[in-house]
Amino acid sequence: MHFAPDVEETLNFAAVLLNTAPAASRSGRDELATLGELHDLLDANRYGGTRDRSESERRTVVQTRDQLRALWTLERDELAGGINEILRASNALPQLVRHDEFDWHIHATPLDAPLSERIRVEVALALVDIIRASATDRLRVCEAHDCGGVLVDLSRNGSKRFCSVRCGNRMNMIAYRERQLAVDA
Ligand SMILES: [Zn+2]
Ligand SMILES: [Zn+2]
Repeated sequence: MHFAPDVEETLNFAAVLLNTAPAASRSGRDELATLGELHDLLDANRYGGTRDRSESERRTVVQTRDQLRALWTLERDELAGGINEILRASNALPQLVRHDEFDWHIHATPLDAPLSERIRVEVALALVDIIRASATDRLRVCEAHDCGGVLVDLSRNGSKRFCSVRCGNRMNMIAYRERQLAVDA
């Protein structure tokens, strides 16, 4: 699977964002519960554009996260409908832009549009490529027990199963113990 660099970056960012939800996060709590957590996440992902750093802005990002999580597991036609709804509601207008240290890439909202709207539209635009490539099977839920995390598998052979190295190690350990028990028995 190969997409444009900005599309891949956005899909990976979407998975990180979705995995801050209580059902998916490492801590088991909402990891976007404070302004500090939200802005650390955005800074770590070099997220540009304006932010007003208000509590209401944080709440709308949490709502957007939950809205995008609902899209993640839809089948292709439903996902296409959900993407169109987001693009329509924001009057998305795709434009090539070059800003900060980033070369030409696509945005469909101005850089000073509300943060949650920019996130929503950016992820929707990246999902357009997933639809066009018939790659909805690359949007996955982690296969580890008791993990509600999501992942996007951009690997060539499509073999990624876990949301994190931690989940992968945990499941390998469980499989190892099961093999040992079988040997002992
Ligand atoms: Zn940009
Ligand atoms: Zn996981």
